[in-house]
Amino acid sequence: MADVEQKDTVVVGGGPGGYVAAIRAAELGQKVTLIEKGDPGLGGVCLNVGCVPSKALIAAGHRLQEVKDSSVYGISKTDATIDFKQTQEWKQKKVVDRMTRGVEMLLKKHKVEIINGEAILDNDHQLRVIKPGPKQFMDNDNGRTITWKNLILATGSRPVEIPNFKFEGRVIDSTGGLNLPEVPKELVVIGGGYIGSELAGAYANLGSHVTIIEGLPSILNGFDDDMVKVVEKNMKKKGIDIVTGAMAKKSEQDDDSVTVTYEVDGKEHTIKADYCMVSVGRKPNTDNFGLDMTSVKLNDHHQVIVDEQGRTNVEGIWAIGDIVPGPALAHKAFFEGKTAAGAIAGKNTANDWVGVPAVCFTDPEMAEVGMNAATAKEKGIEVATAQFPFAGNARAVSLDEPEGFVRLIYTKDKKNIVGAQCVGPEASTLAGELSLIVNGGMNVEDVALTIHPHPTLNEPIQEAADIALGFPTHI
Ligand code: FAD
Repeated sequence: MADVEQKDTVVVGGGPGGYVAAIRAAELGQKVTLIEKGDPGLGGVCLNVGCVPSKALIAAGHRLQEVKDSSVYGISKTDATIDFKQTQEWKQKKVVDRMTRGVEMLLKKHKVEIINGEAILDNDHQLRVIKPGPKQFMDNDNGRTITWKNLILATGSRPVEIPNFKFEGRVIDSTGGLNLPEVPKELVVIGGGYIGSELAGAYANLGSHVTIIEGLPSILNGFDDDMVKVVEKNMKKKGIDIVTGAMAKKSEQDDDSVTVTYEVDGKEHTIKADYCMVSVGRKPNTDNFGLDMTSVKLNDHHQVIVDEQGRTNVEGIWAIGDIVPGPALAHKAFFEGKTAAGAIAGKNTANDWVGVPAVCFTDPEMAEVGMNAATAKEKGIEVATAQFPFAGNARAVSLDEPEGFVRLIYTKDKKNIVGAQCVGPEASTLAGELSLIVNGGMNVEDVALTIHPHPTLNEPIQEAADIALGFPTHI
């Protein structure tokens, strides 16, 4: 039997939560060991098969569309084509590999010990590291045995599979969707959440005909209807078919295609496609590394129950990222990593799940931070809203992207902006300023009196504040 190694801070999982926790813990003077099983590897889902490669494909789709059709600027249409193999190579080598190497470099710079293996918990005080590959739960000699002063769990999440849509062949999850060998002529996307909608948009721009099959009455559930409408209109313009209130029933494959059967209002329909990507949600990785051998408590959604610093019910065990409640987003995981590492060092840190911005990289993009009007009302907060359309913004018009708006949600006395929303060009970038406003507790006057550079896409934020004060300028 292997010797038991006693460690200071041990982090399980090298995704956005884990690697950031490891760096912060090292910065705060802890001796840190990070265990990563290599599937997907350092950088986690986000860098390897999530946020980053999806944005690379989205960018490639935008470039292709720009080259193909900039006639509005008087630039002649070209018959541009895409070598998708090269796109995929660029995405992997120049984006994903480069960024994941960067994570490894940062960890080494901070003297974090990296163990390449899968951590399996034995009990509240001990784990074993097994080599990546088939699990050998019963074999105690199969690697290192480790105990800790503090253990931070950051094992992330994986895609949910639905009956009759097993991930194999032409039925793929989002990882398969990111790594397709060719641009499909016909792509079915089951699930119109943010992952499905982003990739549907990317492939439509790259040349696919895409059908989104969504069970709910609308895609992009969670965002306000008037925001979703802006995106839906644009999707339809691109030729994306959106079927809502639809239940995916089964998939049948042959060598070249997959036939998807779905039901709407009790009537069955079929659609034949090159690939069917299922993106109906993700589940926390809390069931596959021996967590049940510990006393760590989970909620009904199989997420680890934590306090606002990431502390579980077991002393010395912390949890962050997609395995804990709150939106499953990389920037939330980053923050929770820093919070937990800080708390271990005795700092007065805390997570704030209301202030987490949500961004969706659709065409146009959507962003939201804090409360929307409905949530504020539910919480008994009396709010008013003010919004400014990009159609009145010179920068958006000169980019030929005048759709959408910025909206501020503020208390009736205008003393507190409790939420902000944006649908339109570069909403993802505007989300930073909107977050600062909401998380900084700014009031309407603060924003109205902040001079914004002209002409920029940020001006609608100031204009919305002017509207809230009753002094609109450009509307
Ligand atoms: P993960 O990133 O899942 O990392 C967990 C790591 O732990 C993995 O590397 C895994 O190998 C390792 N691991 C698991 N179990 C063990 C074990 N027992 N032993 C050792 N290692 C283990 N979020 C955004 O904020 N913005 C976006 O634009 C965005 N786009 C996305 C697009 C797609 C297609 C997908 C799928 C996700 C996207 N996300 C996005 C979500 C984001 O990727 C996740 O919220 C984030 O990666 C969660 O970080 P994490 O550290 O909790 O876990």
